[in-house]
Parts: sequence; C-alpha cells; structure tokens
Amino acid sequence: MPSGKIMKALSGFYYVLTDEGETYQCRGRGVFRKQKITPLVGDEVEFEAETKQEGYVLDVLPRKNELIRPPIANIDQAIIVTSAARPDFSTALLDRFLVLVESKHIEPVIFITKMDMLSADGLARMEAFKEDYQRFGYPVEMFSSKEETNLDRVKLHMKDKISVIAGQSGVGKSSMLNAIDPRLELETKEISESLGRGRHTTRHVELIPIGGGLVADTPGFSSLEFTELEAEELPSCFPEFREREDSCKFRGCMHHKEPKCAVKQAVDAGEIPEYRYTHYLQFLEEIKSRKPRY
Ligand code: GDP
Ligand code: ZN
Repeated sequence: MPSGKIMKALSGFYYVLTDEGETYQCRGRGVFRKQKITPLVGDEVEFEAETKQEGYVLDVLPRKNELIRPPIANIDQAIIVTSAARPDFSTALLDRFLVLVESKHIEPVIFITKMDMLSADGLARMEAFKEDYQRFGYPVEMFSSKEETNLDRVKLHMKDKISVIAGQSGVGKSSMLNAIDPRLELETKEISESLGRGRHTTRHVELIPIGGGLVADTPGFSSLEFTELEAEELPSCFPEFREREDSCKFRGCMHHKEPKCAVKQAVDAGEIPEYRYTHYLQFLEEIKSRKPRY
C-alpha cells in the first residue's frame, strides 16, 4: 500500500507526499473515521490511490507526539526564537517556553536573534546565558537575520527535521525564515501592520520545506499558560533538575520545602543559576493556584 506524509490539511483534504515526491489529495475513509483519529499534518499515513493525484487515507501510523495548536504530529523539535533586544531577552519568558515544550516531550532548540543590536556588554551577558542553557543540555544559536550572521548554523538545525517555531510576536521569526530562504517572502511586522490586519489569520496548517527540513507555517505555543500541566510534572521539565532528582532524599521531591534536596543544594552551590530556580518556584505557584477547570 502506498504511504507518505501529510504536508497540509485544508477543507477536508489531506495532501500526502510520498517518498517518490508525488503529492496526492486525499480524503479520510469511513472505516478510518471510526477509529476516532483525525489525521494531522505531520502524520505518516497509508493510503489508497484512486488516480495519479487523488486517494483515500486508510491508516495513520503511530505518532511520536502531537500538538493541538497548531495541529501537527511527529514534531522533532520546537525552535524557541528569542531576541537579544527589542523585545529584550528574558530568561523568565524563555524558561516558560522551555517548560511548555518539555511538557509535550518535544526537544527544544534555543535561537537568539537580533544579535546585531547588542553592545559589547550586552554581548558578554548573552554569552553567559548561552553557556548556562548549553550546560542544561540545550542547543543555543545566536545570530542576526538583518546582518545575516550565523545563518548557516541556524539552517543546520532544521535539516531532516520537522520543526515548530515558537516565540513572542516581534522577536523576528518571519525575518529569520526569510533570511534563510528568501523565496519564502513571509510577511514581517511592518508590512502586515500597515495592511491593518492580524498576522495569524492562517486557516490551514502546512509544513514548508526549508533548510533541508520541514517547518510548520504557524507558530506554536501561542498560549503561554500552564493550563495542561500538573504540578508533579513540572520538575521533569527542567533538565538540570531531572539529572539530580535521584540524589534528593525523597522520591518525587518537588524541590521546594523538602529537606536534603539535591536541587536546592545545587542552587546554593551555584551549579544551578538562581534565576532558573526562581522561575521554577514561580511556575509551581502559578500551577498550584490555578482554578480548577470544569
Ligand atoms: P515575528 O513577529 O517574530 O515574525 O517578527 P518579524 O520577523 O516580523 O520581525 C519583527 C521586527 O524585528 C521587524 O521590524 C524586523 O525588521 C526586526 N528584525 C528581525 N530580525 C532582526 C535582526 O536580526 N536584527 C534587527 N536589528 N532587527 C530584526
Ligand atoms: Zn529535590
């Protein structure tokens, strides 16, 4: 049976790309609807070809993960785009994105753009943050879309992967994609604002080939609230806590009020930066004080 990857979902059609590079416009079959699975962009599917361009999706292969917004399956990584300036770099916001991505079991990559806007002091500060995050195990790239520096490194991260791009509005996500591949001609801020319409009016989700990989055309993690996260899941969203939890005295230690906590000891010893632990406690408080959902 032919198989392929869903590249786009639009008006009830799934656009399936085969390994041979052919695209089939497919509908879902009745049988398959009974499984109560809705095919998603990124799904590997088996389909039946009716003609050379049309067919029916018959089966969705097991997913490695899935997101609801945007609706995409089998994501290899979330590229969190932050800016060195305008808006200012914020570890609080970056940590929030990291937790949201980690909680979905998706690998984060940290991109810091607009590096051309930093002074020498600012640059040194940013290098220090880069070292911190690399120490936790995250890949970090610093670059400028405007001056086109380090874009080859940025591109390398996209190769052979399905990526979702996340990041605040205005950090430079579209500019980055345009700089990597000028053929994209994505709208950047000034243009869309002068047209007087919102930017995220995309009605469908699509995977765009870029840098030898596939990138979702809709930014992910637009809601920055921890609505789907339980307090007990939070410690595992910090890799530098994760690697120490076995040394805590108590199983399931929340690294908060427990005695003989390896995480708190590491913070005191300066092995884990203060700000990471502060953000952890803030997030924990936020989750605990969340109103129950009905
Ligand atoms: P998005 O909302 O994340 O897609 O951000 P945009 O790509 O629309 O960029 C927002 C603003 O930042 C625009 O005015 C861009 O020209 C500017 N910008 C983006 N990348 C850079 C950069 O590397 N350096 C500088 N100086 N400005 C940038
Ligand atoms: Zn602990």
